[in-house]
Amino acid sequence: MTFTSRSAAPALVHYQVRAQNLHAHLFGITLTIAQPTADQMVSLPTWIAGSYLIREFSRHLQYLRAHQGKASVSITQRDKCTWQIHCEAGKPLVLSYEVYAFDCSVRTAWLDTQRGFFNGTSVCLRVHGHEDCAHALNLCNDDLPSDWQVATALTPQKTTGKGFGIYLAATYDELVDSPVEMGALWRGSFTAGGIEHQFVVAGATASFDGARLLADTQAICEAEISFWHGPPTPGKARTGAQQPPHRHYLFMLSAVDNGYGGLEHRHSTALICKRADLPRLGQSKTLAASDGYTTLLGLISHEYFHTWNVKRLRPAEFTLYDYSQENYTELLWFFEGFTSYFDDLLLRRATLVDDTTYLALLNKTINGVLQTPGRKVQSVAQASLDAWVKYYRQDENSVNATISYYTKGALVALCLDLSLRQTGKTSLDAVMRTLWQRCLGGPMTQSDLAAALLELSGESFEQRLAQWVHGTDDLPLQELLQAQGVTYAEDPAPLVEQLGLRVTEHRGIQVKSVLRDGAAEQAGMAAGDEWLGIEVGSDKAAQAWRLTKLSDLPLYLGPMKSFKALLARDQRLLTRTVALPESVRSVKLSAGSPPLVTAWLSGQIH
Ligand SMILES: [Zn+2]
Repeated sequence: MTFTSRSAAPALVHYQVRAQNLHAHLFGITLTIAQPTADQMVSLPTWIAGSYLIREFSRHLQYLRAHQGKASVSITQRDKCTWQIHCEAGKPLVLSYEVYAFDCSVRTAWLDTQRGFFNGTSVCLRVHGHEDCAHALNLCNDDLPSDWQVATALTPQKTTGKGFGIYLAATYDELVDSPVEMGALWRGSFTAGGIEHQFVVAGATASFDGARLLADTQAICEAEISFWHGPPTPGKARTGAQQPPHRHYLFMLSAVDNGYGGLEHRHSTALICKRADLPRLGQSKTLAASDGYTTLLGLISHEYFHTWNVKRLRPAEFTLYDYSQENYTELLWFFEGFTSYFDDLLLRRATLVDDTTYLALLNKTINGVLQTPGRKVQSVAQASLDAWVKYYRQDENSVNATISYYTKGALVALCLDLSLRQTGKTSLDAVMRTLWQRCLGGPMTQSDLAAALLELSGESFEQRLAQWVHGTDDLPLQELLQAQGVTYAEDPAPLVEQLGLRVTEHRGIQVKSVLRDGAAEQAGMAAGDEWLGIEVGSDKAAQAWRLTKLSDLPLYLGPMKSFKALLARDQRLLTRTVALPESVRSVKLSAGSPPLVTAWLSGQIH
């Protein structure tokens, strides 16, 4: 089969992807390299951009074969993900292989009778030396259910009405940055900022209110395009610097019983949400959105914001991705943290949540950070560099040894925004726009951020960045929030925080983590313990109770501040004496001065 691209040069690398066996979850791939080098090298990436963990996608690649004409060609595997094909130069080389696709996350690939999904990083071998050539992807619909359609941000070259056929990518980077969704999809579209946006949903029920999701997503997109490029001029199309950097965009959402996640791409995003979090027909439009739906809108807002912040404006270290190993940067607190600050804030700007809901979301982030002992151990810059071995490999000690560059990074953004607003001159919105222009929507460093902060505020932020980003002291949240009209109160913390525990409560209480210097640690409880019961009172008045959920503890404890915990560890029964501390508090935010809070949240500068 021959292919021609819209550009003059034919694609030199062609992939044909078939759903080979839905029940076995196998994609069958035929890769044709028009002009191989002698002993051509090919490899599969070890990671996918946006998710900083070595995932070894090659572990699901099997049955690799090579031919030139009718002759089979021998292959030598060079390492875990690289193969050398002992072919002749310049004569079309055909590789065939299978990829097992049974991970329902947004990071790899999935195939069953309901849907197919893949990232090129899981399915498309990289042809060394040909990365900058045009790549063609032929999606076959042999034997697939007749109601299946395709959604992808790749450029269609020759496709059917349902989207099967040939797509083009200018480079390998573009190919693997454009995931493909297949199935019986719900489809909708809208225009925002003069750009066509497509939305597809897999797995929705008949009660799904697609019109509401489209309208709310459109409001988010308009708010974000205005954030980066200024508000639209009524009656005029956006031109020049007012135009967003993308010409089209695709949201691909998979609704499942239980799941959550998203991955950003230059012209699309792949999302997962709980089916129950989708908006439903018949729900009142005037009621506040459910918590679950607010979470979904926050995810949509987050991934769309990445269209600018990380997919274009990006760490200098990500100028060219190395697919074979970890790509380190200290800047994820900026790219993930600042995106996390603006994702909810832009829901408020788009009037999808009110001030009270926004403050509640912020409140949760603040308490999450303050209840993480690891914030005293690791800075957000270190957390970023260590993402590959810590953030993406969480264990029982993570809460004591690490801090999330998402949540603390969002609070660094908050502190910068409120500090800038105190000058009365500018805000973090303006800093982001200045950075975008200064770095031409491309690679940036922390120095670029420092320069933009100085330029707009007239103040140096070097020392504050050093403390907040590279230090482990707590951020000046109370002082800055109070100056912005927010009441910052402290209440007694929930019981689980007073105990210093993270638990799961499924058929009894399982201890997941014991927080550093907390009551549970001092009592000698450990991750992995099963907490069976408690004994309260002294000697003759002592009572023992079975405990299956922590919320029952006050029932048995009353005003007592100490008790014995009965634990099971490695089949031994242990008793530990727990003394509840007096002073564990959690933060409670409210709008003390509503006009000041509204000014900040609606984007005005006072
Ligand atoms: Zn993100």
